[in-house]
Amino acid sequence: MNEFFPYRHGQLHAEATSLLDVAAAVGTPFYLYSAAALTARYHSFVEAFQPIQPMVCYAVKANSNLAVLRLFAGLGAGADVVSEGELHRALAAGIPPDRVIFSGVGKGRAELMTALEAGIHQINVESVPELRRLSEIAAAQGAAAKVAIRVNPDVDALTHAKIATGKKENKFGIDLDEALAAYRLADALPGIEPVGVAMHIGSQAGSLQPFAEAFERLAGFIREVRQAGLKVRRVDLGGGLSIRYRDETPTDPAEYGALVNRIFGGLDLSMACEPGRVLVGPAGLLVARVEYIKHGASRRIVIVDAAMNDLIRPALYEAWHEIVPVRQPGSDVVVSAADVVGPVCETGDTFATGRELPPLEEGELVAFGNAGAYGAVMSSTYNTRPLVPEVLVSGDRYAVIRARPTYAEMLALDTVPEWLPPPRDR
Ligand SMILES: *Cc1c(COP(=O)(O)O)cnc(C)c1O
Repeated sequence: MNEFFPYRHGQLHAEATSLLDVAAAVGTPFYLYSAAALTARYHSFVEAFQPIQPMVCYAVKANSNLAVLRLFAGLGAGADVVSEGELHRALAAGIPPDRVIFSGVGKGRAELMTALEAGIHQINVESVPELRRLSEIAAAQGAAAKVAIRVNPDVDALTHAKIATGKKENKFGIDLDEALAAYRLADALPGIEPVGVAMHIGSQAGSLQPFAEAFERLAGFIREVRQAGLKVRRVDLGGGLSIRYRDETPTDPAEYGALVNRIFGGLDLSMACEPGRVLVGPAGLLVARVEYIKHGASRRIVIVDAAMNDLIRPALYEAWHEIVPVRQPGSDVVVSAADVVGPVCETGDTFATGRELPPLEEGELVAFGNAGAYGAVMSSTYNTRPLVPEVLVSGDRYAVIRARPTYAEMLALDTVPEWLPPPRDR
């Protein structure tokens, strides 16, 4: 765990708040975020870009809780949204519309209309059909949509296949060799004001190299567009910076910032970026309780009360999350292999296999590290498990920022048609 999650008096804390206290009040499982960690990560990211000062549009999909968005709004962040729902969240949290960028390959008509009405900073268009549809909608509204053309630089982000977005064969962006024609079209279409270019090569990029390649290609493209006599005022670099889950070398924001400076510094552009994971991942934990210890054929199986519906990353991306006991292990502790699993009826509901862990007992708490990004936002109610609650800590204060729904609330979401026959007695 990092400095924001220290052991104190033998128990894991978030800042100065005991996880035992939170668990007693909120029940388990729950997500917990450290406000100090979120703030520190935002500041270190922004500092890496001196003197460029890009507009930092936090990628809302990584963690879209309104309290987290408000915290970033208070630090001056903008937002990168990928749906109308996220747009509503960003605006509700107080992020000014002129700092909101709308990304995504499949924006619907209603979504585009809402974005235009809100007067957001920029819509990143990912295809010619989207450009034509947006033109039609904007022209009908008498609006001029500020558009960036998202190009696909055909670069391998060296990440898990499910979160690579910058290869030619991925569904994202417009191929570089078709992008100039798209930019020209944007310039010609009514209701469209092309302001720049955008890219995003994927998430948890394996090294700085893919960024370097993609940025070079994008800078080349900007020159090409300008040579064609068109204006390019803005560039949006996307997100994708990586964090350390296990033994990865995380993207160093300072090196990333220096790279951006070197490639784009002389191009007279206003710059935006869309960091998600790097701002929130290490600032969050998922806390669960050990339900049973079962002795499997080859090793112990630790069954916890969190499951794949609460944190799907291991099942979906073979992701590795640190797991630590909340009760501090002694220095002489003997670790042994364990499988850590949830209660859901799928073998995929496995958080870790053969993980070296200290002895654990029924009823004690464990914390999963680096769970602040793509954790709660991807949770579901599979197996009719209540959506996992979220807690924000600041010093010795904490607040429940999303409450656990009751079973009555969950069942009330369904409707049984009155024309179905009543239940039969036998
Ligand atoms: C997901 C996404 C991001 C954020 O990616 P991270 O890896 O979390 O930084 C940024 N921009 C776009 C367009 C995205 O789809």
